[in-house]
Amino acid sequence: MAKTKKCMDCGTFNEQDSKFCEKCGNSLNQNDTTKPQESTVNMIDCPFCGQKIPMNSEKCSHCGEWLDPSKDNPHGVSIVLGYIISIFGWLGLIPAIYLLTRVSSSAKKHGVIQLVLSIIFGFLGLFVNFY
Ligand SMILES: [Zn+2]
Ligand SMILES: [Zn+2]
Repeated sequence: MAKTKKCMDCGTFNEQDSKFCEKCGNSLNQNDTTKPQESTVNMIDCPFCGQKIPMNSEKCSHCGEWLDPSKDNPHGVSIVLGYIISIFGWLGLIPAIYLLTRVSSSAKKHGVIQLVLSIIFGFLGLFVNFY
């Protein structure tokens, strides 16, 4: 086998598949492994869609979710308001549908809950009116 792998420590050429330098025992894969690591160290999994995104990004480029929860405050307000309105019945469908149309997956999740809540309270309202 051709000795093509150069030891970065002593300069000795080693066989391509050898992991350690035959002369000084230095790890030959050191430079091979640090490179991919560097590119993945700065990548994190998006907590919302699980795609790899740069660690310092404020917003996921795949699902559009804000990674800083404080940036999602406009949604937070409408989510809380939506829950309050959903107790009043059919009226709750408005904020629920609003949340369902948001890009944010967490807003969508709350939208589904509020949709169910407003339907339940809506039917309860009808039931109460009959008696
Ligand atoms: Zn060496
Ligand atoms: Zn995402």
